[in-house]
Amino acid sequence: MDTSPGEAECWPFLGTLNIDGYGQYHAGRTLIGTVSAHRVAYVLAHGLALNLPAHRLVRHLCANPPCCNPAHLTVGSQRDNMADRFRLHRDRPGPHPVRTLTPPPPGGWRVMSGDLEELARKALEADFWRKIDSGGGDAVCWPWTAASRHDFGYGFVYWEGRHTQAARVAYVLHHGLTLACIGRDLVVRHLCPGGGNPDCCNPRHLMVGTQKQNMHDRLAEGKYERGDGHFATKVSNREVRALREEYWSAPHGKRPKLEALALRHGVYWGTIHRWLRGAGRQEAGGPTGELEPEAKARTNHARGEAHRMVKISDARVRELRETYWSVPPKQRLSTVLLAARLGTDSKTVWNWLHGKSRLSAGGPTGDSVQSRGQQSGEESIPDRQP
Ligand SMILES: [Zn+2]
Ligand SMILES: [Zn+2]
Repeated sequence: MDTSPGEAECWPFLGTLNIDGYGQYHAGRTLIGTVSAHRVAYVLAHGLALNLPAHRLVRHLCANPPCCNPAHLTVGSQRDNMADRFRLHRDRPGPHPVRTLTPPPPGGWRVMSGDLEELARKALEADFWRKIDSGGGDAVCWPWTAASRHDFGYGFVYWEGRHTQAARVAYVLHHGLTLACIGRDLVVRHLCPGGGNPDCCNPRHLMVGTQKQNMHDRLAEGKYERGDGHFATKVSNREVRALREEYWSAPHGKRPKLEALALRHGVYWGTIHRWLRGAGRQEAGGPTGELEPEAKARTNHARGEAHRMVKISDARVRELRETYWSVPPKQRLSTVLLAARLGTDSKTVWNWLHGKSRLSAGGPTGDSVQSRGQQSGEESIPDRQP
């Protein structure tokens, strides 16, 4: 609205007007449940939290429908409105000069500038908080009630041009910040009294911290009990291998979500992603990519079933030997997994690797001189005959 003329003059709404000339302020719908611009102006200027009841009209003392100057607005009934029209305005269209301005509420008008951007933001904020159940009061958790939800429990919203966690938005709004104030490497930690509740958007339960702190919060709660206190080695090799097998043996659309696996193991999802691709924790073994179709079928069904023998080329056997023997014992995949990958059984793979069969294929059939002697540790399963 144009507030430049001063308090005695009309402040016409500069946006869309309806057929009767009244301003249509769409953000008002989420703000107080009406698009009627002068009504929104009245409610905000008087510092009211809610719209007036529908039968209470906001009347124009200036008889000028687009005017949003709160000093020109007063509340009354339909009857008052009609009386104004014939007594005050003599059925002449406005604007009319206003002799008796509406006095400001105690403490002055709440919205002096009528800055629409500010109002639009307020409306968005009101809409955001409406999606959160804060009915239980400050002491309890405020669950996210909207449908937009991430796989692992967090409410998600589109805010300031990006999709982000609802709790993050709750945190910044409560503290009068913007999302940009919190680095992307930082997380919003849930410090709910009953244990971290990812659904909670009560700002009093939220605190900004690092991903590492976040994981410690969870471990401290015993949600992701891991035995020893050191974060980086929390997930055992056996678990990493099982994780890979679970992931890669599932059909494409049915694989567990990285976030779900991350939550289960108490690590960052990017870490899970690296493990699954073999970009870290190679020593754990297990598949780090798509299994071959036969192998997949075999991993899905019970191992030890009668195997349908498939023809594997000499080149493939040689490649298998080279790959297997070129890495330190700890990094070798288990014969069970190699068998699953190739679509054969582990005994056959063991025999190939050790040159007990398919000698014609060529390639190394044992440790090279250099790597012999490095062999140690419990993870060297591959060398054992199954
Ligand atoms: Zn006016
Ligand atoms: Zn909470």
